[in-house]
Amino acid sequence: MVVRLNVASTCVGTAALGPGFRSVVWVQGCPFRCKGCVAPEWIPDVPARLVGVEELAAELLADERVDGLTFSGGEPMAQAEGLAALAKIARRERDLSIVCFTGFTLNRLRDSGVPGTVELLSEVDVLIDGRYVRERDDGRGLRGSANQIVHHLTGRLKDVGYDFAGRERTTEIRVGEREVSLVGVPTADLLTRLAPVLGGPAPIPGRV
Ligand code: SF4
Repeated sequence: MVVRLNVASTCVGTAALGPGFRSVVWVQGCPFRCKGCVAPEWIPDVPARLVGVEELAAELLADERVDGLTFSGGEPMAQAEGLAALAKIARRERDLSIVCFTGFTLNRLRDSGVPGTVELLSEVDVLIDGRYVRERDDGRGLRGSANQIVHHLTGRLKDVGYDFAGRERTTEIRVGEREVSLVGVPTADLLTRLAPVLGGPAPIPGRV
């Protein structure tokens, strides 16, 4: 059986979403409605790009410099089975670290019984958990707001000199043939400053 993911977007090779040089999968669909969500167009649970995990793994590893994957969204745990399969397949090809965002807390995930959750957690090196709270967005770190916790589920990324919680945020602006996108966790100030440059309201990360 082909395992498929419902994918909002991907990025092959970035330094803005975790240590090293990573490929990113943003899944489509999220059960939460955080005020100030940076990617509201990826909240609806609607078909976006339905792609098999084998094909997606090949896409994400197309650049041989990629040494890690980051799963974001949308809500990755809503597609835990598919992402666990993706991680396993990609890791058969290359030794990769895995970073995953989720709006659920780790404790809730461990007790959830949702298919694929345990399998995905067993693949993840760093889990950034909890919903985004705009009032607690301090503009620091890879997490969106200070209530979110960085869990080192393995020691792999603990001593690589990357401060997940407190580092200065970096954001890449990528210009493609059909769209301009932001990759990273942008500060509110960056979004405000970009708005007049690009025209219209504050741009949305993922698709500006
Ligand atoms: S959990 Fe993330 S993707 Fe979902 S609504 Fe909150 S900020 Fe947006």
